[in-house]
Amino acid sequence: MSRKYRVGILGATGTVGQRFIQLLENHPQFEITALAASDRSAGKPFAEACAWKLPGGMPDSVKEITVQPIEPPLDCEIVFSSLPSSVARETELTFARAGYAVISNSSSYRMDEDVPLLIPEINHEHLGLIDVQRQKRGFGTGFIVTNPNCAVVSFAPPLAALHQKFGVESVIVTTLQAISGAGYPGVPSLDITDNVIPYIAGEEPKVETEAQKILGKFADGAIQKADFTVSAQCFRVHVIDGHTVSVRVNLRKTVTMEDVIKAIETFPSLNLHSSPAKFMDFCDEPSRPQPRLDRDAGNGMTITVGRLFPDNVFDYRFVALSHNTVRGAAGSAVLNAELLIDKGIV
Ligand code: NAP
Repeated sequence: MSRKYRVGILGATGTVGQRFIQLLENHPQFEITALAASDRSAGKPFAEACAWKLPGGMPDSVKEITVQPIEPPLDCEIVFSSLPSSVARETELTFARAGYAVISNSSSYRMDEDVPLLIPEINHEHLGLIDVQRQKRGFGTGFIVTNPNCAVVSFAPPLAALHQKFGVESVIVTTLQAISGAGYPGVPSLDITDNVIPYIAGEEPKVETEAQKILGKFADGAIQKADFTVSAQCFRVHVIDGHTVSVRVNLRKTVTMEDVIKAIETFPSLNLHSSPAKFMDFCDEPSRPQPRLDRDAGNGMTITVGRLFPDNVFDYRFVALSHNTVRGAAGSAVLNAELLIDKGIV
């Protein structure tokens, strides 16, 4: 049994921060040794600083930890960041410069050319960018890796399965995103109850660009992005957790529906602690996937795909769903940390 790595969480009191704490409780490879948040929380015991919102209650192990400001030094070797993007860019850079492994959820560095944007099952070879990043930015042992936008992580996996086998040419996505995606307290209840909001600030550009980097090829120290276009419309809907994405796709080859299902169903999972048994689960019940029924598949780490049909305008259409604070945020970051250990990088 290998040793436990000491981890800190930036933005520990928030929606994603709390999910980190829940997922890291009793994790065989990590122990939480530092928690950090804003000036509103710093200096207080975590139990006092944090209004805990997840079922099951706050773990006893973190209650007495004093919340720190978001600056080094923190008593840890790995930093999970769930900070708002307004402060993430400068803070994550400061931690990486100070020698910490920074595993970020925020959008700040996702599209930087020297920063891996990881879905471990799809592109773990992008970890090769860490050497490039260290060299370019003069980091010592520190570095930054990121995980995708919480809506992108729902549809990039089925696209990866199709792109690998048949080539993806163009995609239209319509996202139906849960309220928890906006953090806490998020969207006012009087705005979202009995309503659908056809606007999420800054979301559509992320959804239109991240998948091409994730599905890109790493060669000669750089990512060559996948050559397809994505058009996106993003909606906030009255669901607590779980982002649903409607996808229409044109492929570069003519393939049958059975070919598409097989490509999705046979795309392998990994053998890391947080890996689900199935990376993607193809569901042929006519009314699935649904957030309430499917977001917890594989402990929130499985992407559920269904409603696959030939389309009248595009080649195929389907619906993909994942848990936005688990696979879409903290769970993906923890999986990235497990991958970094597995590859001997931390
Ligand atoms: P949240 O619930 O609003 O939590 C924000 C956290 O950041 C809190 O711990 C807060 O501390 C801290 N914070 C806020 N302003 C700060 C400042 N100026 N200096 C230091 N700390 C500050 O937000 P969230 O939903 O957890 O999102 C966090 C990040 O993850 C964002 O970048 C978001 O885009 C990304 N993300 C979220 C989701 C999701 O489903 N929610 C999914 C993927 C990615 P205090 O409690 O002390 O204010």
